[in-house]
Amino acid sequence: MGTPRETNAAQAEVVIERLEEEYPDSTISLRYSNRLELLIAVILSAQCTDERVNQETEHLFEKYDGPQEYANAPQEELAEDLSSITYYNNKATYIRSACEAIVEEHDGEVPDTMSALTDLSGVGRKTANVVLQHGHDIVEGIVVDTHVQRLSRRLGLTEEQRPEKIERELMEIVPDGYWQQFTHLCIDHGRATCTARNPDCDDCVLADVCPSERGDAPIDLASGEPW
Ligand code: SF4
Repeated sequence: MGTPRETNAAQAEVVIERLEEEYPDSTISLRYSNRLELLIAVILSAQCTDERVNQETEHLFEKYDGPQEYANAPQEELAEDLSSITYYNNKATYIRSACEAIVEEHDGEVPDTMSALTDLSGVGRKTANVVLQHGHDIVEGIVVDTHVQRLSRRLGLTEEQRPEKIERELMEIVPDGYWQQFTHLCIDHGRATCTARNPDCDDCVLADVCPSERGDAPIDLASGEPW
């Protein structure tokens, strides 16, 4: 069990510093070449791996060009094109509906505000934050996915459970210049070392500051359960 820094802000600082050293090239792993492709990839990535999404979008982005083509696609055909993705039927519905709104209400352009984005089908705050950050260079929040949620709790940065509350707390302690990178660092560390089921605490650069470190910590603070 490591000893966290005295304040959450100091803890966030040391976490960022160590992870930046460990993952100097950390960035988004979804592949896309324009804002619409980014939006679609992020919608598809809900509860699905980025790797699987990248495999599927390689063909998808060749077949469909622009929001009108997605909006006009028959539901069954688009669902079939997405069939290796989790919840592909629902996601096909979201994509068709979001693209219809993009054509009818936004002149065919992916909107650049949180409220307009979250009005689109299948787009919550997390998806909107990713699109704003990577599509429009607008950083107004922190993307809280399952890795950010788990690591923030394990590292004692928050005790909140819900992503939107975790985001609010993180925004208080993570310097705003790091709001975007914090997510990518947590994702890289969550994939490489601090995995959900079997974190490799013995080989973790945060072990000495992590209150969940498995050596003698009784509890995984992410779940609140004993290790
Ligand atoms: S791998 Fe272990 S020590 Fe490292 S952050 Fe995760 S729980 Fe803490």
